[in-house]
Amino acid sequence: ERLVSSATNIEESTIEQSLRPQTLSQYIGQDKVKSNLSIFIEAAKMRQETLDHVLLYGPPGLGKTTLATIIANEMGVNIRTTSGPAIERPGDLAAILTALEPGDVLFIDEIHRLQRSIEEVLYPAMEDFCLDIVIGKGAGARSVRLDLPPFTLVGATTRAGALSAPLRDRFGVLSRLEYYNEIQLENIVERTAELLDVEIEDKAAFEIARRSRGTPRIANRLLRRVRDYAQVRGNGIITESLAHDALELLQVDRLGLDHIDHKLLRGIIEKFRGGPVGLETIAATIGEESHTIEDVYEPYLLQIGFLQRTPRGRIVTDLVYKHFHMEIPRE
Ligand code: ADP
Repeated sequence: ERLVSSATNIEESTIEQSLRPQTLSQYIGQDKVKSNLSIFIEAAKMRQETLDHVLLYGPPGLGKTTLATIIANEMGVNIRTTSGPAIERPGDLAAILTALEPGDVLFIDEIHRLQRSIEEVLYPAMEDFCLDIVIGKGAGARSVRLDLPPFTLVGATTRAGALSAPLRDRFGVLSRLEYYNEIQLENIVERTAELLDVEIEDKAAFEIARRSRGTPRIANRLLRRVRDYAQVRGNGIITESLAHDALELLQVDRLGLDHIDHKLLRGIIEKFRGGPVGLETIAATIGEESHTIEDVYEPYLLQIGFLQRTPRGRIVTDLVYKHFHMEIPRE
């Protein structure tokens, strides 16, 4: 099981749910996104209007679902949650839309995975709060417009570029979530430790933070695993040395890279002399889906300067050779 994947079972999603900040002020980091949203939310409330549709994009685990919930809380409305792959037919979406209360937030996770025929139901719904439905068949068929309550669509996607242009254009607010820095992650770890009622040293929290790939979901996950270790091997208090040992055992290196990152980077070095090599080839070599590499593994490696994208494919940088204590090949 991989650290960056989304919640893998019901138990974990219940835990994630309980750790979610409920208000913008509890939400750590992402200052630009937060200050924009708080202005839009306040303005919408002053005008007693619904908030404009919001698109949140960025790698998994950075807090998109959390922000959607917070938006609903701050607006004082209910949230309905679904996802692109879960909506199979246009009728499914129509049923969800007609069941909304005025002002509600509709959250669609993985919105880039909506089928085109379903996207088309969404256009008039987003633009004019109405549904065009066809009644009857053949010569007697006629189209009727159905009014919907005004609502706010919050869409989440790992890549804004994966969205069709007509859908993207219908969002009033586009917010990109960034990887968190170590201080922000340390705050998140400390906040979570408090919620879990576990004692942790500052330095231990920092150690977890810096191995979390800039991602709150991973920070929380590592913390829970380190807590287990502390319970069994120590007296429950998470000290720096305990955290260090537990993280070594979890095979997360000091930059937060795990065995799949290693496989990917070493694969490019050993089989393709450091690249350039195409995404599909990498995927086939390490046995992972290319879109998973692109959406989940690669963004962080690009961010820390370990990978570069060129027109001819991916290349590893000198930093990777240094990280693995390998000799940098001469040109
Ligand atoms: P995404 O929808 O982007 O995959 P989530 O919203 O599910 O990410 O966040 C994953 C976990 O990380 C949640 O359990 C949440 O508690 C935590 N989290 C995310 N962002 C923050 C934040 N800014 N402050 C505190 N915790 C956060």
